[in-house]
Amino acid sequence: MTLYTPFDNWATEEHKLFSESVKRFYEEEMTPHIEEWVDRGKVPLSFWKKAGESGLMGGAVSEDVGGFGGDIGFDSITVYEQARKGDSGWGYGIQSIVIHYLNSYGTEEQKKNWLPKLIAGTSVAALAMTEPGAGSDLQAIKTTAKKDGNQYKLNGSKIFITNGGSADLIVVAAKTDQSAGAKGISLILLDASQADGFSRGTPLKKLGLKGNDTAELFFDDIKIPLTNLIGQEEGQGFYQMMKQLPWERLLIGITALGAIDFAIQETVKYVQERKAFGKRIMDLQNTRFKLAEVKTKAEVLRSFVNDCVARLIDGKLDAATASMAKYWGSQVQNEVMDECLQLHGGYGYILDYPISRMYADARVQKIYGGSNEIMKELIARSLDH
Ligand SMILES: Cc1cc2nc3c(=O)[nH]c(=O)nc-3n(C[C@H](O)[C@H](O)[C@H](O)COP(=O)(O)OP(=O)(O)OC[C@H]3O[C@@H](n4cnc5c(N)ncnc54)[C@H](O)[C@@H]3O)c2cc1C
Repeated sequence: MTLYTPFDNWATEEHKLFSESVKRFYEEEMTPHIEEWVDRGKVPLSFWKKAGESGLMGGAVSEDVGGFGGDIGFDSITVYEQARKGDSGWGYGIQSIVIHYLNSYGTEEQKKNWLPKLIAGTSVAALAMTEPGAGSDLQAIKTTAKKDGNQYKLNGSKIFITNGGSADLIVVAAKTDQSAGAKGISLILLDASQADGFSRGTPLKKLGLKGNDTAELFFDDIKIPLTNLIGQEEGQGFYQMMKQLPWERLLIGITALGAIDFAIQETVKYVQERKAFGKRIMDLQNTRFKLAEVKTKAEVLRSFVNDCVARLIDGKLDAATASMAKYWGSQVQNEVMDECLQLHGGYGYILDYPISRMYADARVQKIYGGSNEIMKELIARSLDH
């Protein structure tokens, strides 16, 4: 049995070669810096640029805008291998979502202006939906983009925004019509370098994901050209977000799988070395059973995630199935992290061991990207028709 092979049923030779080069890149450029990013609370722009130069981003985007014309399998590999190396700081997941928004709904000018920079890693993107008063209930957002002559005036605030501390491009969900509920929401591009009235909060102190500069954002009468609306008409934001959900949710399931594979690898190493009562912790039957259980969970998740990636490549992944990948992946990830930490004993609680950080990182996977309760609601809705 091959241990830790991430993908198989859909992967072409090109995907496999890509996977090898991504792994090498992470070993050289990511692994040595993870602790430093955690301490600094952000990933430096120099890493984004190196990742861009090494072709890690934009695999599913056409060549004329800087991508390499592949499919979503390439992005799947980029995010899987990152989690597989134990990193949770680099915010490519969100960047990839923004790339897909622009690629699917952006005007030619928006694509030409932003996609090459995002793919090259010279620009960082964020996606700002959540507000202090509206998370799960996205329709309740209060940020407004009011038309004023040939521009919008953006007012409001966002919270918990991944890459928020460093993003140059922020896709903001705002109400262009406050009386129209979900149909009044539009997505607006905010170029942080040209935004008088834009400010970022002090870094949020989080339980996990400490290498990411998750931030609060404030918009005070920012003037934005009407051409920064994503899509041809206002009020399409909710629909655009819903259409992109399969990738956003599967992404969390893939990340869960990568983190689980890394945690199991680290735990096996640890219990093989550590001794108690004159033998290796690995030799205790409880340890063997626990490892067998987590490995089985990993393989069951892998089959499902693989199937979802294959479906997404074929354009057949529906939102309910993607919600299952998000819900199940994050649930299993949390269970596995808990077992793996337990097998480390007290050392598992000490931050020198990656498992403690991974345990903390796992928790938010059940909350963001739509909480698992919302996922279950969506799955149930697909049954109730
Ligand atoms: C580290 C981090 C990074 C994030 N990154 C981003 C980002 O980049 N962009 C962004 O826009 N947002 C981001 N978020 C926000 C995240 O998506 C929201 O926190 C999440 O959607 C939940 O919203 P909330 O926090 O307002 O919780 P609430 O919506 O207030 O929910 C509170 C609790 O009630 C439950 N609940 C709510 N409604 C229902 C219901 N109908 N049925 C059953 N239970 C329900 C929820 O599941 C939850 O358990 C991030 C959050 C964190 C912590």
